[in-house]
Amino acid sequence: MAGEAQDDCLFCRIVAGAVPATIVRETETTIAFRDINPQAPTHVLVIPKAHYRDAAALAAGAPELAADVLRETQAVAELDKLESYRTVFNTGTGAGQTVWHAHAHVLGGRGLHWPPG
Ligand code: C5P
Repeated sequence: MAGEAQDDCLFCRIVAGAVPATIVRETETTIAFRDINPQAPTHVLVIPKAHYRDAAALAAGAPELAADVLRETQAVAELDKLESYRTVFNTGTGAGQTVWHAHAHVLGGRGLHWPPG
C-alpha cells in the first residue's frame, strides 16, 4: 500500500537503519543523506520516510509530505551554505530514476549547466 515500508526498497532500508548512509538532516517525516556517488560538491538526497515509488506518486498521494521534502531541500542548501543549487526529481527510467522510492537530489557547490543531460 502507498506509504508503507517495502522490504525490497533500498531507501526504506536506509530509513530503517539497516543500510548505512551519511545522514545530514532528519525530521519526523523525512531524512536527507549524502549521495554515495556525488555528482557535485554537494549532492544530497532528501526522501520521505514513507514509501512512494516516485515524485508523481508522492505528490498525488501525500501532497503535504511532498511539501516537507521540498522544504528540506532548502534546509540542505542552507546547511551547505549554497547560494545556487538545483533540485531534481528523476521520474521514470527514461529520466534516469534507478531507485523506486521518491527522492529529491540537491546539487550545488559548482556551476550547473542548462539544459541538463
Ligand atoms: O534519481 P536516481 O534514482 O537515479 O537516484 C538514485 C541515487 O541514489 C543515485 O544518485 C545513487 O548514487 C544514490 N544511492 C545512494 N546510496 C545508495 C544507493 C544509491 O546514495 N546506497
